[in-house]
Amino acid sequence: MNFKDYITIVPDWPKPGIKFKDISTLMDNGEAYRAATDEIMKYAKDKEIDIIVGPEARGFIVGCPVAYALGVGFAPVRKEGKLPREVIKVDYGLEYGKDVLTIHKDAIKPGQRVLITDDLLATGGTIEATIKLVEELGGVVAGIAFLIELSYLDGREKLEGYDVFTLMTY
Ligand code: IMP
Repeated sequence: MNFKDYITIVPDWPKPGIKFKDISTLMDNGEAYRAATDEIMKYAKDKEIDIIVGPEARGFIVGCPVAYALGVGFAPVRKEGKLPREVIKVDYGLEYGKDVLTIHKDAIKPGQRVLITDDLLATGGTIEATIKLVEELGGVVAGIAFLIELSYLDGREKLEGYDVFTLMTY
């Protein structure tokens, strides 16, 4: 399947000059969404994954069906103030802004093998922050999977030494 056929490129959104890659036109197609999920599942299936972790909100859309397919759990990473129990947090910078990400303190047990998922790798700031949260809790990042990589933003440099899978590259 040519997955790029299902991605819509939206010019000047959310800011002038940004060509936003909209995955909603992949997600709303059952065949494409399932095929994309299957590709990530194939990537992950020999990695002995214990739990999947993804940042809100599109990291959930990518990670949750993979968690179901692998029969493992999913732990959400969210913006500050969204998770109801004790959290750890990390500051991060992203392609267009700055923010704080959090995860429940008991979401990952030390030594658990974690697959991190998100829709898109841009500068890598979001996933770098997510890695910090996972590792602070003693998790082992066994793989990182994205639907899309914007290779011209060099996000992979921030993820050096990690096992990274991307379905599409621009
Ligand atoms: P990074 O932290 O710079 O790698 O940015 C990645 C985060 O920003 C991801 O969580 C994406 O959801 C979001 N993002 C940045 N650019 C795009 C885009 O073109 N399409 C969809 N999401 C984007």
